[in-house]
Amino acid sequence: MEKKPKQKKIIIIGAGLAGMSAGCFLQMNGFETEIFEKHSSSGGLCVSWKRQGYTIDGCIHFMAGTSPSETTYPFWNSLIDMQSLRFIYSDTHSVAENERRERISFYSDVDRLEAELLAKAPEDKAHIEKFIRLVRKFLRMSPPVFKPVETMTLGEKLKVGYSMAPFLPAMLRYMRITNQEYAAGFKNKELKKMWELAFVGDAPLFYSVMPLVWRHKKEAGYPAGGAALISGLIEQKYKELGGVMHFNTHVTRILTADNVAHGIELENGAQHKADIIVSAADGRTTIYEMLQGAFKDQKVKDRYERKVFQTIDPTLYVALGINRDFSDQPPKLYFPLEKPIRIDPLSTVDFLEFSHYCEDASAAPAGKSLLTFMPEARDWKYWQELRKHDRKKYDDEKARIASEIVEALDRRFGHIKECVEMTDVVTPATYIRYTNNWTGCQISWKGTRNTFGKPVAWQINGLRNFYMTGQWASVAGGLNHVVMMGNHLAQIICKNERQKFKIC
Ligand SMILES: Cc1cc2nc3c(=O)[nH]c(=O)nc-3n(C[C@H](O)[C@H](O)[C@H](O)COP(=O)(O)OP(=O)(O)OC[C@H]3O[C@@H](n4cnc5c(N)ncnc54)[C@H](O)[C@@H]3O)c2cc1C
Repeated sequence: MEKKPKQKKIIIIGAGLAGMSAGCFLQMNGFETEIFEKHSSSGGLCVSWKRQGYTIDGCIHFMAGTSPSETTYPFWNSLIDMQSLRFIYSDTHSVAENERRERISFYSDVDRLEAELLAKAPEDKAHIEKFIRLVRKFLRMSPPVFKPVETMTLGEKLKVGYSMAPFLPAMLRYMRITNQEYAAGFKNKELKKMWELAFVGDAPLFYSVMPLVWRHKKEAGYPAGGAALISGLIEQKYKELGGVMHFNTHVTRILTADNVAHGIELENGAQHKADIIVSAADGRTTIYEMLQGAFKDQKVKDRYERKVFQTIDPTLYVALGINRDFSDQPPKLYFPLEKPIRIDPLSTVDFLEFSHYCEDASAAPAGKSLLTFMPEARDWKYWQELRKHDRKKYDDEKARIASEIVEALDRRFGHIKECVEMTDVVTPATYIRYTNNWTGCQISWKGTRNTFGKPVAWQINGLRNFYMTGQWASVAGGLNHVVMMGNHLAQIICKNERQKFKIC
C-alpha cells in the first residue's frame, strides 16, 4: 500500500475569526493545525457577553456577505450554514437628527435615499445626484475575490483587471476624496453636518459607498443571535474538521532559527514545535514582541514605522439595558447633546449615536431594549495608564460617562433614568487586556488614499515558514474580510507547499 506523506503541522496564534477561518480552511486541506488563544474563549473582537438578563453584542452592527449575490458569501458559507441563520436588514443605514429633532434618514434603499436627500436639501440636487449615481454604479460591481492575487495565473489576473476596469477610475477618484471633503460641497448646512456624522469624516467617500451598496442589495445584515453565535459556529466547525483549540495559552515568542520559524513559546515557558507558524493575533505584538523586532520588511515598516498606515480612532463601548421598548426608533440614531460629554483628555463628544437590537429577541428580555454607544476615545494611553495606576478613578470615570449618557438620553427621550437596569462600559484598555489589539482599536487600519491597493502582509521577507493573517496584516478589518483572508491564506500555503487547494 502506498504510504500517505505526513501532513505538515501548523500552529495558529489567535482564535479570532481570522485565526479560526484559517484553521478551518487549512484543516480542509489536510494540514494538522492547533490554535493557541490567550483568552478563555474564541472570537477575539467578535464576542458577546451577558449582563443582568441582557446579551451585549460587543461587535456586530452589520455583517457583509450575508446573501449569495455578495462575493464573500461563499467564504462564510463554507464555515457556517448561512441558510440556517436569520439576518435582520435595516431600512436605514443610520438616521441623524438636529437640535429641533428634525431628521435625515440615510435609507438602505438607494431610491428612497435619493428621494429623502432631495426632499431635505433640494438646493443640493447636483451634489446629491452625483453621489447617488456613484452608489448605483457600484451596484453592478462584483469584485472577484475567489483567489488571492498571490495565487492567480496571469490569465486570471487579466480577467480580474478586465472585470474591474469599468470601476477602477471611480474607485481611485473617490478613494482620494474624504466624506468631509465631499460634505463640504453641500450648501445645506444640516445635510453637511449629518453627512459627517453618518459617514466617518476622514474616511474616503468610496468606503461609504460600499456599505450602501451592500445594504441596498440586502447583502449586509445583522445576524439574530449576534457575535457569540457567529464565533461559536465557526469554532464548532473548526473542531468538527479535527482542529485542536488551546485556550488560556498566551504566546510570548515565535521561535526561529536560521531565519525559519519553527515553534512558539508560551507565557509559562512551554514550547510547541510546528512546520509552519501563522499569527492571526495583533500585528504589532507579533512583530515587536513575539518576533522581537528581528524581521521587518517594507510592508511591516509601512504599517508600524513609516506612518503610511494609521490606526482607526478607538472608542468606548457603552451598553445600557433599558426597561423600555425602543423598537419605534431607527436601529442607529445620531442625536445632538445639550451638554458635550468629555470622554478623555483628547475626546469630547457633542453628538451621541446609539444602536438598538430590538429585532433580535436574544439581546434583551421582551419589551426591554439593549442600546450600545461608541463615543470616540482617542486617548487610549490615558485609559491604559488609568486602569494600571488608579483603578478607582478608572472605574469612576467609566461610571461618570455612563451616567452622563443616561442623562443625555433622558433629556432626549424622557423617563429613561428610572428604566436603566444595566450599564456596562468597555474602554480601549479592556480591548487591549482581552485581545491585545494595539491602541485598543477595533478595526485596525484606517482605509485611506495611502493604503489603497497596498499588499497584504502575508509574510515577512527574510523569515520562512511564517505567515500572518487577520485585520492587522490586511489594509483594514471587518468580519467578512478576515474570514475571506483565512481562505486566501490557506490557498497561499497550499501553493507554497505544492498541493491543490480544496474546500470540503
Ligand atoms: C465594537 C466593535 C464593532 C465592530 N463592528 C463591526 C461590524 O459591524 N462589522 C464588521 O464586519 N466588523 C466589525 N468590527 C470589526 C471586527 O470585529 C474585526 O475586524 C475582526 O473581528 C478582527 O478579527 P481578527 O481575527 O483579525 O482579530 P481579533 O478578533 O482581534 O482576534 C485576534 C485573537 O488573537 C488573540 N491573541 C492576541 N495576542 C495573542 C497572544 N499573544 N497569544 C495568543 N492569542 C493572542 C486575541 O485574544 C484574539 O482572540 C467591530 C469590532 C468592534 C470591537
